[in-house]
Amino acid sequence: MTVITRFAPSPTGYLHVGGARTALFSWLYARKHGGQFILRIEDTDLERSTQASVQAILDGMAWLGLDYDNPEPFFQTAHFPRYKEIIAQLLERGHAYYCDCSKEELDALREQQMANKEKPRYNGKCRHAKKSASDKTVVRFKTPVDGAIHIGDLVKGDIVVANKELDDLIIARADGSPTYNLTVVVDDMDMRITHVIRGDDHINNTPRQINILNALEATLPKYAHLPMILGADGARLSKRHGAVSVMQFRDEGYLPQALLNYLVRLGWSHGDQEIFSREEMIAYFELDDVNGAASTFNMEKLLWLNHHYLMHSQPSDIAPHLAWHLTQRGIDVQSEHVDVLALIQAQRERCKTLVEMAEASVYFYREFEQYDEKAAKKAFVEGSDNVLAQLKDAFSAVSQWDAPLLHDIIKNTAQSLELGLGKVAQPLRIAVCGTGVSPSIDVTLAILGKEKTLMRLQRAIDYIQATMHA
Ligand code: GLU
Repeated sequence: MTVITRFAPSPTGYLHVGGARTALFSWLYARKHGGQFILRIEDTDLERSTQASVQAILDGMAWLGLDYDNPEPFFQTAHFPRYKEIIAQLLERGHAYYCDCSKEELDALREQQMANKEKPRYNGKCRHAKKSASDKTVVRFKTPVDGAIHIGDLVKGDIVVANKELDDLIIARADGSPTYNLTVVVDDMDMRITHVIRGDDHINNTPRQINILNALEATLPKYAHLPMILGADGARLSKRHGAVSVMQFRDEGYLPQALLNYLVRLGWSHGDQEIFSREEMIAYFELDDVNGAASTFNMEKLLWLNHHYLMHSQPSDIAPHLAWHLTQRGIDVQSEHVDVLALIQAQRERCKTLVEMAEASVYFYREFEQYDEKAAKKAFVEGSDNVLAQLKDAFSAVSQWDAPLLHDIIKNTAQSLELGLGKVAQPLRIAVCGTGVSPSIDVTLAILGKEKTLMRLQRAIDYIQATMHA
């Protein structure tokens, strides 16, 4: 049997971490078993579905590298004829019926049930009434009256729901449009989904869906309901806990590998291993190891993982992501001849996010506007112009431009001026970076290049002379 899983988001908002984790687990399960992973956009709620949200889902999945096997995403709105066909079939075979109970009638029923402390549910009034179709009738599914549904949930264990707890749910609205439970069932059946892996907020729908699948004589998929993700305060993770959309994590400087590694550990474990390559996730992933209890989102751990991946990834794997952040800052990465791999190597230790790395790297690409006031005041003093002029002369004279050589020049200049290394390196750093913080100065200069170094030294000399003599 080929394993077929799906991710079935409703495009009514951004792709949030809960959705991304569901997508990841479904994807991993398919990849692990050499199966297929299908992306199905559940866009039948025309009022709430938006194109922007579809795009956010596609972007989020592409950014995380969760590739799907259908050539194009499947959109439910393109399949209304199929849903209608199944609704007609259910009616024809006596598994469904028309119902014309009015809203007022249903509201009164609900109120009465609530007053009697009963579970509000449809009372089956039209079930045997043989109503015919009109523009006021919905179609209801005839839920079996007896028996029980056993969900052998792969995460939560056996869940038993008695059919008498369920009512006759609506499968088509008065305008003929199919409802969520119907479309899911038809697609899961047609797509031959073998494993439905989704959030446990759908657990109440599962017995209803199984009843419809049984009525259609379809093979039942296995179900795995993933527990919720909570914020640090124990409430369901939401915007007020900070970033929750996948693309916001990109914007805030996380690497997709770091977020993916973080997500895989949200409710799943493999011994006490914390770091997983994509290949390891696929090799070790088991639904048996998914924890049935809710997990808590921990930003600090994500940040730790991000730093780990910044430190240990190949610079060439980080480069496109850094380039994206630099481009966001108006930098034309292509036109500047900066060795981005050397830049990443120089910066990564001190940066926990790509935002920090990009912000700390802007001066390699673009002239800074002004010197950091405090740092300049401290380092640009009487005589600093002379120090910088000496350095400039020495740098101008060399034909080679690499860190060890630059290091020697700085050291020799300090010696010949009888100054400590810091007294030379610090004004030099502020002259070329504009701030007092940078990677080691020789490496900084090597990446910056000769031309920019000499120009910025001259700019600093002029600045010092102008301020000293003002
Ligand atoms: N479209 C549903 C949602 O976004 C998921 C349906 C399913 O996975 O069965 O919550």
